[in-house]
Amino acid sequence: MANTGLSAVWHDEGNKFEIREFPVPEIEDNGVSIRVQATSVCGSDLHVWRGDGRTAQDAPRDPFVFGHEMMGSVAGLGKNITTDSLRNPLKEGDRVVFSYFFPCMRCYNCIRGEMGACKFRMGRIPVNEWPVCNGGFAQYYYLRSPQFLFKLPDEIDDATAAPINCALAQVMEAFHIAKPRFGDNVVIQGAGGLGVNATAVAAEMGANKIIVIDGQKPRLDLAKQCGATDIINLTDYPTVESRVERVMELTNGIGADIVIELVGFPAAVEEGVQMCRMRGTYLEVGHISPNSMVSLDVQKLVANQIRFHAIQHYDPWILPNAVNFVQKTLGKYPLTDVISHKFPIEDIENAFRTAEWLGTDKGSVVTRAIVTP
Ligand SMILES: [Zn+2]
Ligand SMILES: [Zn+2]
Repeated sequence: MANTGLSAVWHDEGNKFEIREFPVPEIEDNGVSIRVQATSVCGSDLHVWRGDGRTAQDAPRDPFVFGHEMMGSVAGLGKNITTDSLRNPLKEGDRVVFSYFFPCMRCYNCIRGEMGACKFRMGRIPVNEWPVCNGGFAQYYYLRSPQFLFKLPDEIDDATAAPINCALAQVMEAFHIAKPRFGDNVVIQGAGGLGVNATAVAAEMGANKIIVIDGQKPRLDLAKQCGATDIINLTDYPTVESRVERVMELTNGIGADIVIELVGFPAAVEEGVQMCRMRGTYLEVGHISPNSMVSLDVQKLVANQIRFHAIQHYDPWILPNAVNFVQKTLGKYPLTDVISHKFPIEDIENAFRTAEWLGTDKGSVVTRAIVTP
C-alpha cells in the first residue's frame, strides 16, 4: 500500500476541485483501507457541485472530499479483519463493494436493526481537521469499524460495480419499503443512474407497466432497454396535466401502484403524487439538497390515502442482494452502458462538466460519468 494518495478536495469558495496529495490513514485493528478503483458521478454529487440548495448567505464550508458511489480493492486490513461481512475470507487485493456510511451498532435505531437510519452513520471530516487521503473522489477510502463490505464476483467489472452501493442499493431499498406486488404498475420519475436501475429492478420484480418519465431521449432509450414498457418524454408532454393524464391513460384511469421520485426537484413531487392510484405508494428518494420546498394539498393526499415514504440509505443486507441482482442479470439490461465516460482523478472537473445535464436542451448523453482514481 502506498503511503500517500491523491484526493480531489472540494472548495465551496470558488466552486472548484483541487487535487492534493495526503497520507493514507493508519489502519485501526478493525478498519479496512480501500484502494478506490471506480467512482461514479452520482446525481447527488452534481447537486453538491452546482451548489443546489445553498444560498449566497451560506458561509462556505471547510474544504472536503466527496464522492460515494464507488468500489475498490482491499489495500490493507486491520489485524482483526479476516473476512468480508458474509464471512468470506478476505485478503489484500480482493475487489469489494461497501456502504459509504457506518451504522454505529449502539444506538436506538441500530439496536432495532434500522441501520440505514443510524444517526451516527455519516462522518465526513473536512480535510483541515483530518488531513488524510479518504473519499470517493480520492485514491483511498477508509472503512472505519463497524463497516459492511462484500466481495465481488470476478465477472462484475469495476465500472459495473461502482453504482451498486448507491444507485442500485438505494432503489432496491425503496422498493422493499413499497412492498410491491406482482403485476403492479410503476412510474419512475427520472431516467438517470437511479432511474435506469429502478427500471431494471421493477422489471425483475414483475411489474406490469413500467412508465419512465424524463426529458432526454438518450436516457429514455436506455430506460427502454432496461425494461421500461412506456416512456413519457417531457418534450412530447410539456405540461404536468398532460403527463398525469398520460399515466392515467396507461393505467386505465387508475393511476400507478408505485411512483418513485429520482429527480430531486420539488416540482417532481407535486406532479408525481397525482400519478398514484388511490392508496398508491409514493417513494421519495431524489431530494438530498436543503431547502427543497413543495406545495402539496395534504387533504388530497389524505383523501387519496397516498402512502408517502421518504427514503435515504439502506440496511446492509441490501448490498449483497444488489450484487446478486447484477450477477444474475449481467448482459440482460445495458446497465453498464450507464457508464459512458471515464476520467482520471486529475480530470475530475471534466467528469462533472460532462455529467452535467441541467440547463441544456438535448441533455448530456452521459447517464453516469466515472472517475477512476
Ligand atoms: Zn449517490
Ligand atoms: Zn447507530
